[in-house]
Amino acid sequence: MLPDIVDVARKNGLVISDRTLHSEEVLCKCPFCNEDSKPGKKRKFYLSLNAQSQLFKCWYCGESGGVLRFIALLEGVPEEKVRSRYRRSHTTHPAERLTRRQRLLLGGYKEPDWEAMKKRDRKYYLRTMDRLWERWNAFLESERQEAYFLLVLGIRFGKYGKYVEQIRQREKQIGASLLKELLNIYSSAVRPSWTEKVEAQIDAFGIKTRKT
Ligand SMILES: [Zn+2]
Repeated sequence: MLPDIVDVARKNGLVISDRTLHSEEVLCKCPFCNEDSKPGKKRKFYLSLNAQSQLFKCWYCGESGGVLRFIALLEGVPEEKVRSRYRRSHTTHPAERLTRRQRLLLGGYKEPDWEAMKKRDRKYYLRTMDRLWERWNAFLESERQEAYFLLVLGIRFGKYGKYVEQIRQREKQIGASLLKELLNIYSSAVRPSWTEKVEAQIDAFGIKTRKT
């Protein structure tokens, strides 16, 4: 198992916003740009850690990646070095925990025999896992954006219940949570830049529906 991204932040002495400590999105002061450590920004926390997907992103400087990159940046060592450190001591890749259904959502992944693959060619196994995990995270990101569209649509047009139900259905289909994180994003003062694009789409949609 890879280390938990929030634990990594703690061990490296990052300043974490207490309010977010037990939520899915944990916010910290960004140690890469230090923008939120400037005077007058005492209550800003630009670095977002996703406790579920184990990804980080700074809404200000854009630094982002997975937990291994996070450790590499914090320790100032190449990511490959961190990767091999965990390769040696850990055998199960997070991508192995994806269900068959989730792999099918990514398209064309047959039921793999991970153990056999691992024994046959460990490097190939890890490359396959990394790729699968990357694809899963990209998939989740686009799911999040689509669900965010529905959420904002529901809020703007007074059909919150209906669209939230649609999002819940989708959560069941993909076996991952969406709504909780989206509500966090929606109520957060610092939102990821893609939300602006989604909201602009809805504004355009609003004009269209009013005209017709
Ligand atoms: Zn930053």
